[in-house]
Amino acid sequence: MSNYAKSIIAGDREHVLHPTTNLFEHRENGALVIERGQGIHVYDVQGKEYIEGMAGLWCTSFGFSESELVDAAVEQMRKLPFYHGFGNKAVVPTIELARRLKSMVPFEASKVFFTNSGSEANDTQLKMIWYYNNAVGRPEKKKIIARWGGYHGVTIATACLTGLPAFRGGFDQPLDNILHVSCPHYYRDAEEGESEEEYADRLAEELEQLILREDPDTIAAFIAEPVMAGGGVIPPPRTYFEKIQKILRQYDIITIADEVVCGFGRTGNMFGCETVGMQPDTMTVAKQLSSAYMPIAAVIIPEWMYEGLVEASADRGIFGHGITYGGHPVPAAVALRNLELFEERDMMSRIRDVSPHFQERLRAFADHPMVGNVRGVGLIGAVELVASKEKRLPFEASAGIGQFCDNRCIEHGLIHRFSGNAALFCPPLIITAEEIDEMFKRFGLALDETY
Ligand code: PLP
Repeated sequence: MSNYAKSIIAGDREHVLHPTTNLFEHRENGALVIERGQGIHVYDVQGKEYIEGMAGLWCTSFGFSESELVDAAVEQMRKLPFYHGFGNKAVVPTIELARRLKSMVPFEASKVFFTNSGSEANDTQLKMIWYYNNAVGRPEKKKIIARWGGYHGVTIATACLTGLPAFRGGFDQPLDNILHVSCPHYYRDAEEGESEEEYADRLAEELEQLILREDPDTIAAFIAEPVMAGGGVIPPPRTYFEKIQKILRQYDIITIADEVVCGFGRTGNMFGCETVGMQPDTMTVAKQLSSAYMPIAAVIIPEWMYEGLVEASADRGIFGHGITYGGHPVPAAVALRNLELFEERDMMSRIRDVSPHFQERLRAFADHPMVGNVRGVGLIGAVELVASKEKRLPFEASAGIGQFCDNRCIEHGLIHRFSGNAALFCPPLIITAEEIDEMFKRFGLALDETY
């Protein structure tokens, strides 16, 4: 290893507290330091090449070297590097981006509120819904229902929504108005002989029982990712959202679509909710909104909610919610260019052309002796490893199978990610059929060595 690489890796160990990392392992082994990117590939400080099978963190749709996005950032920085939207100010790219987003979402959208991250955007969803319900005279209607296995962020409120042990254990969960229902994991949780439709009936029944137990007048909203991402890439069973939403509507409960991962083509439609038959009232987007070249996220709300907020403002004065960098002109300009490129290059057709090949290659792993379940849609998927195929027996976490397989992948030049025992794939949307073959070839080698 070169002295340069050694000193960078040592510097990281010495100075940086890593997010979402096993800190003990990091202190022992250091990190993989990535220095540059090209297409779907990234290169570490030693010059080794990797296929980025997760598009970074489910986000770099255009890969790691899209110069149009770089140019959009530079141009906007030269023109106006910062201005804000507080107190009746505005900037041009943010207006254009809001207009474009509204025209894209599959519901009647009225306004768009910008933040820097998905966590802040979901936090904003809760604050807005609570504020709205106060404004319209139903201050009791405040509880939010999320799902075990769901991921919605790590701020105090969104970590309470997130239903994954790693993000809850050791931290306090101070909000007592967040409830959870079951993760819709057909492979893991369906009963013997139960069809997907029957399983969805059972989950809808569970939701209704919870609502009745808690009192519908106390429940404000239900939040869900169309396809659960961080929890292990879990598409819902057939008819799930149709049944769930029938109940939500019956009890006047808002549906929030968390499209932070699924939004902008990932599942084969522009938004994941279109793929799974979900009809949201409000939506959170982030990540692929700017191909992650700049941090930006958004909350998109309907007219009735906006009207409630405006009326409250008439009484209270300012709507007291906003973040210094929310609606920042540079990320907004990049996001705008990103959405233009998406259209100019007809990315939806491209994704639809290449997805069947991705899914076919993914599903070929079903025959492997270590694989219990393969699932996915569009350009997102998971391969779940099991200790026993017949008994669907998961590996104990202590067996460290995911870590072992991950390390083999790194050796073979593939970065992807494990959630529990599930190997996750979510490559840049620009991936070609040949690159998909190469990605799964590398994974296959790692899997065989893990077996
Ligand atoms: N919602 C979903 C579905 C996510 O996957 C994530 C992050 O991965 C978030 C919200 C939080 O976004 P951020 O990490 O930008 O705060």
